[in-house]
Amino acid sequence: MTDAPQTCHLCGDVRLVKSHILPRALMMDQKREAKELWGLDSKQDGFVGLQSGYWKRFLCADHEGRFNEADRYAVDFCRRFATERRSVYRGTVFELDNPHPDRLADFVYSSIWRTMVAVKSPSLGPYLQRLTDHLFGDKPVDFPLLITRAGHVDNHGRDSNITVLSHEAKVDNLRFTRFMVAGLAWWVKVDNRPLGADLAFLDSRSRNPALILGREPMKLGEDPMLQGFIRDLGARRKSLF
Ligand SMILES: [Zn+2]
Repeated sequence: MTDAPQTCHLCGDVRLVKSHILPRALMMDQKREAKELWGLDSKQDGFVGLQSGYWKRFLCADHEGRFNEADRYAVDFCRRFATERRSVYRGTVFELDNPHPDRLADFVYSSIWRTMVAVKSPSLGPYLQRLTDHLFGDKPVDFPLLITRAGHVDNHGRDSNITVLSHEAKVDNLRFTRFMVAGLAWWVKVDNRPLGADLAFLDSRSRNPALILGREPMKLGEDPMLQGFIRDLGARRKSLF
């Protein structure tokens, strides 16, 4: 990535380290299953090929280290989804043990924060400061977290999950920031409207087990969650469809 700042975004330290916008281990898992690592990025012309994930130097080692525990927890959570998920509510929802929901939430909040700071998108104005105060000042935040399955397959039925960095997504007039990785979509509601009882039960901020709204893996071109990106993707990788 380009346009790296010369000092830590938070403290001004000039000794910058590599910050992965999403945990490298999840990107490598994805590379193993799909053989290639591709990602969608709403800022960078929609679609990028990746060798080792999205990264940038914009933090010092101390501030980058703030994410380690939550990232490790999320990597384990995503890997366990493949083997330990349980189907509930007549198969419409999965549940997965989540003994430290605060770590899972911090993984999601910090992934959004890293995208906002490193990629400058999406722009969430005052919410960025609230995320900063939470992640680096331990101030509580009240942003509901929803998880939905977002698994993909190619034309041959092989796993072909795709990574999409945080972007704005509106559903039923509710405003979310959402990203996709490891076959899951992670949604954080960033407006002041109530979530509504039909969605509130899915809020996994403080829930053990976590609930994941299910669906079967689908072809990339058929996923309504990806419609905004599909034109770019189709133009560059026709073989996927
Ligand atoms: Zn720093």
